[in-house]
Amino acid sequence: MKMRIQLIIENESGLSTTAEIAAIERADTDDLIGISLEEAKTMTGGVQRALVESQAGEAIHRASTCPDCQVPLRRNGSHRMCYRTPFGRLELNSPRFYCCRCQTNARRSFSPLALWLGSHASPELQYLEAQFAAQLSYGVSSRILSAVLPLQHATSITTWKRHVARVGGRLDEDAHHRLSSKPVLNQFGLPTRNPLRAVGIDGGYVKASDAPSRQEGWFEVMVGKSLPRTGNGQVFAFVHRLEPKPNERMERFLAEQGVFPAQPTTFLSDGGETVRQAQGEFREFGEPILDWFHVAMRTTQLSQTIKGLAADSPIEGDSANRIDELLRELNRAKAYLWHGSPHRALRTLEVLTWDIGTETSRATALQDKLDEFMNYIIANLAAIPNYADRHRHGEPIATGFVESAVNQVVSKRLVKKQQMRWTMAGAHRLLQVRTRVLNQQLRDDFERWHPELRATAEPVRLAA
Ligand SMILES: [Zn+2]
Repeated sequence: MKMRIQLIIENESGLSTTAEIAAIERADTDDLIGISLEEAKTMTGGVQRALVESQAGEAIHRASTCPDCQVPLRRNGSHRMCYRTPFGRLELNSPRFYCCRCQTNARRSFSPLALWLGSHASPELQYLEAQFAAQLSYGVSSRILSAVLPLQHATSITTWKRHVARVGGRLDEDAHHRLSSKPVLNQFGLPTRNPLRAVGIDGGYVKASDAPSRQEGWFEVMVGKSLPRTGNGQVFAFVHRLEPKPNERMERFLAEQGVFPAQPTTFLSDGGETVRQAQGEFREFGEPILDWFHVAMRTTQLSQTIKGLAADSPIEGDSANRIDELLRELNRAKAYLWHGSPHRALRTLEVLTWDIGTETSRATALQDKLDEFMNYIIANLAAIPNYADRHRHGEPIATGFVESAVNQVVSKRLVKKQQMRWTMAGAHRLLQVRTRVLNQQLRDDFERWHPELRATAEPVRLAA
């Protein structure tokens, strides 16, 4: 059996042309039922070629006469132009025309095809490239897409990376722009309750490709996730050293989720140095809060070290239950922190240092740990609320929800393999794409940039 697939294209004036798309042959001995994937790819590729060529022909034809005086325009040579789509790389014939004398006196020419296409890659291809690269390595993405689409060199990994970097750069710019949409107001004309319970901030590390040594081989990425009152949170990420205006970014991040500009938001972090710096930058948007889990974890470690003192030989004059007394003191300090009294906690910890002494190496080690803990508390003084109160009112006090976000946003894509190394700029731009994909916002971004995409439904949105 022989089958021929033809495409009949009818233009505006009713003239129809036929394009041969594919010829399929099946012998009686063939076991194959229906079309093969390769045949499907050939057919789609053929339809795409015929369709784009006709559309391009019409676009060129429309531009070949002056829109004002209808005079045919003079040709100024022609060349081939490449256009990349998910269904193949097309070489199109692209003539140039001189502008009409009624428009200008200068001998200027233009390419109607270039104007019509706008770019060398179709928005859909760019969207696919960005969406895949945000979730999988370029190599894997390329193999998957080539398996199901007639890409035919529509993209190489180098061009792919360049396209994704451009998308990332554009998203990065967008991330600093104020949203024009108005916040939701209630019946009294006041902003509704802050839809976010908190925003958690944490740091992740990415291996640098241009590191001078192994020790310096990492750079920090700031990751944040919102904890909304209903539904799923949204993530953001940026390379801290490349972000000159983190507060603009935060303003946009909050506004996109319906937070009114003057509405205070809670920022939770583990109190580490760089996240604390970021929290300080976001201070204008609300109160920073030190993650209770990290405070509790540190006190647990301290109590382990105190218990370890039991191995030392008893010191003259110390009571038999010295260790218990020290633990009680530590717990008192912890309780002060829990109730939002860091100064009292610090005084209690100070007393604890006197009671421990420096007689043994274990005691000195414990002193160092206590010292570090006290410095941590002092550095985060302004971020220690009354946890007990917050907890009672069901307000978040821990950043557990953001730690998994670091893994999801950074680790899963940028540090999955030992050999994965990034430049700061490269990581920063890919993170912009990745966070938009994870937030299910990338399609909307593309539809905003390319309104023609709105006409094409996206049946399945890939979840990462
Ligand atoms: Zn004219």
